[in-house]
Amino acid sequence: MVTASMPFSFRTILPFGTPLRSDLAGLGAAAAVPAPIAPASRAADRLDANEYPYDLPEPLKRELSRRIAALASHRYPDDQHRALSRAIARYVEQSGGLARGAIDEGHLAVGSGSSELLRAAIVASCVGNDGVVMTFTPTFAMYDVWARTLGVPVLSIPRDPRTDAIDLAQADHLVRSGDQGRVRVVFVTHPNSPTGVPLTTPEIAWLRALPEDVLVVVDEAYFEFCGHTLVAEIFERPHFMITRTFSKGLRLAAFRVGYAVMSPRLCAAIERVRAPFNVSAASQLAAQIVLEHHESLRRRNADVLAERGRLGTALAELESLRVWPSAANYLFVTLRDPNADRLALLHQQLTHRGTLVRQTAGGLRITIGTREQNRRTEAHLRRALEATDATDATDRH
Ligand SMILES: *Cc1c(COP(=O)(O)O)cnc(C)c1O
Repeated sequence: MVTASMPFSFRTILPFGTPLRSDLAGLGAAAAVPAPIAPASRAADRLDANEYPYDLPEPLKRELSRRIAALASHRYPDDQHRALSRAIARYVEQSGGLARGAIDEGHLAVGSGSSELLRAAIVASCVGNDGVVMTFTPTFAMYDVWARTLGVPVLSIPRDPRTDAIDLAQADHLVRSGDQGRVRVVFVTHPNSPTGVPLTTPEIAWLRALPEDVLVVVDEAYFEFCGHTLVAEIFERPHFMITRTFSKGLRLAAFRVGYAVMSPRLCAAIERVRAPFNVSAASQLAAQIVLEHHESLRRRNADVLAERGRLGTALAELESLRVWPSAANYLFVTLRDPNADRLALLHQQLTHRGTLVRQTAGGLRITIGTREQNRRTEAHLRRALEATDATDATDRH
């Protein structure tokens, strides 16, 4: 009999149950960015999350504080993000070469980062629908994590390790045969992360030819650096969803705002599965202010791209490295002689010297920073290569 006087040792007698799914234990904490381990004496160069190297200019920060102070804190934010959506619509039209008025609020979903909307795409297409997610790896790791936490299987097709090309014959076979489950959503990152390679013409043609019962998500997180967009597809293809973020090229990672552009029918479904009041009033304001000033803000993008060119050229001179051509604000470098131990050592040494980059997919993904940071990246990488070369030599004796 269970009573309040149950002896406190009952947990040792009865097996202690858990309401939690056992498969979650095997997954890492979702969006965890690797913790920086740098010498305490030196501020680290955080080049591991593809953030913008510069904060907003002071006058904009002041305007932002002033307008946030004027918000009614006791009220929920606008759940429809009306003012922000109008501004995003104009921005999408202008930056995508579309006619004014082509995009309206019915085409737009706004999320707590594009992350929320990417996850919503899986919920809306696959959950409870026997759906399978298709990805092309290496790519943004979260598609896989979100699918698995939602109990949705993932078909991941390896890309060509030298070119990053998608094996279109294999992908097409899997989608059309349904051999390995019903593919209901395909994720592509344009340009891809970590490699920085944009979609090719045959890949775009393949996506266009996919049947309408497959949701095609084109993640344009790095649009501000790449400049190429597939947004015009949404007018012909009701199953296309283009996602973008304010976290990378628009300098608002701290505020968590992203958006998706798609047909009104698809948009209505995504809106149904996202969280209510998902973007704080302060974040909506921050995004609006950035869009009010996007033309002057984006002049700095040219500096980032020039720095990418400079760092890329410098690193390409280091014999043992291969530097991938990139259309985004990061560079992917691999070892000409693939060697997992040496790569791990390089990463360790960079971290130790205070340059934090991402070790992933058999290479290092290095965010473009300020000129000083990039100079340190180059110097640190050069020394780390020399040191690990010596290690190899020692090993041979
Ligand atoms: C950074 C990133 C995102 C997510 O950005 P949010 O901050 O959630 O908007 C999505 N996709 C890719 C490829 C990214 O690199």
